[in-house]
Amino acid sequence: MDDPALQDAAAVRVAVRVRPLITRELLQGSKTCISTDGPCVTIGRDRRFTFDHAFGANTQQEEVYRELVGPVVENCFDGFNVTVLAYGQTGSGKTFTMGTGEYGGGEHQMGIAPRVIRATSSTCANEQSSRSHAILTIIIEQHLYPQHNTSTHPHTYPLSHPLSPTEGSPRGGGLSSAGGAAAGLPPYDGLGDGDVFRGVGGGGGSGGGGGSAVEVRTAKLHLVDLAGSERNKMVRASMQGPRFRETVNINQGLLALGNVISALGDERRRGSHVPYRESKLTRLLQDSLGGNSRTAMIACVSPADDVLEETLNTLKYANRAKNIRNKPVVN
Ligand code: ADP
Ligand code: MG
Repeated sequence: MDDPALQDAAAVRVAVRVRPLITRELLQGSKTCISTDGPCVTIGRDRRFTFDHAFGANTQQEEVYRELVGPVVENCFDGFNVTVLAYGQTGSGKTFTMGTGEYGGGEHQMGIAPRVIRATSSTCANEQSSRSHAILTIIIEQHLYPQHNTSTHPHTYPLSHPLSPTEGSPRGGGLSSAGGAAAGLPPYDGLGDGDVFRGVGGGGGSGGGGGSAVEVRTAKLHLVDLAGSERNKMVRASMQGPRFRETVNINQGLLALGNVISALGDERRRGSHVPYRESKLTRLLQDSLGGNSRTAMIACVSPADDVLEETLNTLKYANRAKNIRNKPVVN
């Protein structure tokens, strides 16, 4: 790994995104306790962190895509798996950033997921037939609903050709895969665990035809919008039964994710056991963190001073994640 380009590919790219103060915070008199300067973030008086990017409160969706996400997602077309993962506490802007919620805003408010789908679909459509690509996309959202039926899922995309997931059973445990769309082509079965749909661009079919040699490159694209670390005591009051169990599962998933990031990113723990098997979430993300993937992680934070401690925690995890080295290979 002496080649700087390869080294760059192996690194998890880590960005922080500070959202603006929202109405609720303004009404309760919260003050901003965080600022950005180039790739640096300063929290409180003098705690300073440097990331690959630090997106301040004025950053537009388009900029996050252009600076961080687009260049990583392009690797799909060379056969690399790609993951874009948003991390951060509840209300920090993950769903806004990933674009996995409903948004009333116009084009400029559009988040990552629809931008990725648009960009990959158009690349597929522009590919020449001799270079037919398959793109496998999975969108994972960890959320609080006990039922995971994509047809009733609250976060689906207003795209023209939604494809049904090829996987059968819901995963349970607070994880679900939500659909998306690509190029309006038929679903492909026979994919491994976690593959939801694919689009094949170019030739209108997956074979080269006419007996010519076909090069097949595949890539999995994971877009992950994690549920935040809801504090159990707050959630418990408003939830019973299965919903509460979902919350517990989500928190276990996040705890496990923190442990995986620590094991992979903490220099002192290099080579130690990585506890992927502790939760469904970390099993699913095994390739994304430390494995065969080019990965971008966005740590989302609120600027409000009353959540400074939790924000600091998020930044510490993000800081560790910078040290994670993946092993991306062309599939
Ligand atoms: P999370 O998914 O992390 O719980 P959300 O994405 O739902 O957080 O964001 C919480 C609130 O903050 C929402 O009302 C959202 O519209 C708003 N928000 C988040 N990020 C931004 C941003 N960059 N600019 C403006 N508003 C934002
Ligand atoms: Mg959310």
